[in-house]
Amino acid sequence: MLQVEPRVTQAFVAGRWLDPPRRFPVRSPASGEVLAQVADCGPEEARQAADAAVEAFAAWSRTTAHERAEVLQRWAELMLRDEDSLARLMAQEMGKPIRESRGEVRYAAGFITWSAEEAKRLGGELIPTHASHKRLLVMREPVGPAFGITPWNFPAAMVTRKAAPALAAGCTFVLKPAEQSPLTALHLARLWEEAGGPPGTLQVLPCADPVPVADVLLEDPRIRKLTFTGSTQVGRLLYERAARTLKRVSLELGGHAPFLVFDDADLEAAVREVVACKFRNAGQTCVCTNRVYVQAGIRDAFVERLAAAARALKVGDPLDETTQIGPLVDEQGLRKVRAHVEDALQKGARLVTGGSHRGLFYEPTVLVDVRPGMRILEEETFGPVAPVLTFRTEEDAVRLANDTPYGLAAYFWTRDVGRAFRVAERLQYGIVGVNDGVPSTPHAPFGGVKDSGIGREGGRWGLEEYLEVKFVSVALPA
Ligand code: NAD
Repeated sequence: MLQVEPRVTQAFVAGRWLDPPRRFPVRSPASGEVLAQVADCGPEEARQAADAAVEAFAAWSRTTAHERAEVLQRWAELMLRDEDSLARLMAQEMGKPIRESRGEVRYAAGFITWSAEEAKRLGGELIPTHASHKRLLVMREPVGPAFGITPWNFPAAMVTRKAAPALAAGCTFVLKPAEQSPLTALHLARLWEEAGGPPGTLQVLPCADPVPVADVLLEDPRIRKLTFTGSTQVGRLLYERAARTLKRVSLELGGHAPFLVFDDADLEAAVREVVACKFRNAGQTCVCTNRVYVQAGIRDAFVERLAAAARALKVGDPLDETTQIGPLVDEQGLRKVRAHVEDALQKGARLVTGGSHRGLFYEPTVLVDVRPGMRILEEETFGPVAPVLTFRTEEDAVRLANDTPYGLAAYFWTRDVGRAFRVAERLQYGIVGVNDGVPSTPHAPFGGVKDSGIGREGGRWGLEEYLEVKFVSVALPA
């Protein structure tokens, strides 16, 4: 068993490190080696966590935002202290190149510092009264104990993007991390403990099968909020389950991002942004472009440059400082990428570069002659494959971009300021990057419309998801 970093492998419940009777292996996608055997939680641990979250909420929700901010700020500082260990954990458990992983640690810590600061400014309101003897107040209160389910593709940032605003608002938080990447989440829990986070405020339940744990927390009427990031298919299921106890929900789901390149674009810069958008994390982000549309007159010049840039990317060991593309997360991920490319080739697409793999390492790939009816234009590929299509007019481009049930992120490149506003306003997406392939930042709203979800994370919008509004009417004595 590879044992490079000190690893936290127990579950974190009610401020204690638990050893349930079962464990499950976490493997490195790069080498296939077992990195650790991690606590496998079930319904019993979930019930304990629910009880502890409810008990801790009584005290945590009554602390001041300033007191909570102190703990959160320490948490962020400890994350930055452990930047290297956290980055190595991520590179090992899900294959993100080490340089990108360090960037993720800083991005993840950004959600904590921002939420800690901003929660101090969550004032209420005094509404002008309609009756001279009444005073009308609006207060904001934490929504209650919250349950979060996170995916593997951002093992640190998806945790803090949820837990930080929840904790800053005064909620307690039970986390079920993805089965592929529990080690980063458990390390974050240890840092929360070290920062002085009280028992039961943040708890982590790793498990091989998410269903029994999720069932307990979804059924529990005391858990008042569900926040989920993952596929649209699972999000839909959880939405229905959460409805039974009328929980508040935030759902950050799948995407199918278009990237439009207009013929007035600076080609070098457009290619650079498409590469950053498409190939980071080996194409495994919900906001990675899945369809690149290029205006007809510049297609050949664009494809030539994009293919050269894709060929130049270094595929290899995620722990190597020079690696730009690591492995896909698992066999299932690889099967999907291969199926999308094979389907496109069978239906008439042409491979410009890439198209093969060694183990879970898939080559950066560019496809042309891609047409409607191919799976790659309809489903999230979650891999380093860029299908390039063409359009003729701005009208066409917007129609093609919006022709999907998803609505998370869309991008376009133009130097025409009029077009920048026209197109940005007409794209039916929660996030639009204009000449910007990587727009996400902790203080801006992140989230989608249509099949991409409900609610926003990041910025003050992310905090609002964890707050209830209470109206207090005070009638003064005569
Ligand atoms: P997934 O939906 O399979 O799994 C996500 C999480 O849900 C994991 O923790 C998993 O254990 C859990 N889960 C799965 N089935 C469940 C069930 N029946 N009950 C309870 N929990 C269950 O998704 P994935 O493959 O791990 O992640 C990739 C997906 O996440 C992609 O679709 C991607 O677009 C999406 N994503 C969205 C965002 C966003 O902010 N919109 C960010 C990152 C990833």
